[in-house]
Parts: sequence; C-alpha cells; structure tokens
Amino acid sequence: MPEQNGLTRRQRMHTLSKAEGTRQIVKIECMYCRITHRYRCRDLLQLCGDVPIDEISPQFYCEKCKKKEYLRAEFELPWPADTGKLRIRKLVRIKTVLKPVWKDDFY
Ligand SMILES: [Zn+2]
Repeated sequence: MPEQNGLTRRQRMHTLSKAEGTRQIVKIECMYCRITHRYRCRDLLQLCGDVPIDEISPQFYCEKCKKKEYLRAEFELPWPADTGKLRIRKLVRIKTVLKPVWKDDFY
C-alpha cells in the first residue's frame, strides 16, 4: 500500500541490494550454538532475492543444531581494518538438486 512519500513499506526497507551499495555484509548467528558466519550481500541476493534482513535467516539453518529458530541475521559494516582479516563465507556456486516428483496412477 503506498504511503505518504509514495513508496511502499517494502521499498523504504533496507534490503540486500541497498546494503550491498553501502558495503555492508550480513552476519548470521545461531543464538543457541553461538556460531557466526558472515556473508556478502551480492551472494545472498542470488539466493534470497532483494529482501530485507528479517527475510534472510528463515532461508538458512544452523549447521550444528540444524534449526533455524535460533538464527539471527543482521547487517554489519566492516571496518577498514577488517580487510584481509574478517572471515567471510563466499558463494562458490549454487548446486541444483534434482528431486523426483511421483504420482500414483493406473497401469
Ligand atoms: Zn545452532
């Protein structure tokens, strides 16, 4: 629904493409396992589309506890001093998994 400035709520939201433009990265942390991984916004754009931060973590699950309920995602702006030091997960490729779809029918 358009609001006073002509933009929808979604258009005003800080999304992955805007975060990429401001050199932010995404930090996803499992609050249960205390495991943190960081991702590049341009990588997540390929996986999640141009979504706001609260729509990112539901598309992930923790590698340790296998749950997604404890994941918390937030944008983070790395310091210049982080260059070459801060560990970040870079997307290598997106693997397509083939899933069979069955239908019970008559011979
Ligand atoms: Zn976990």
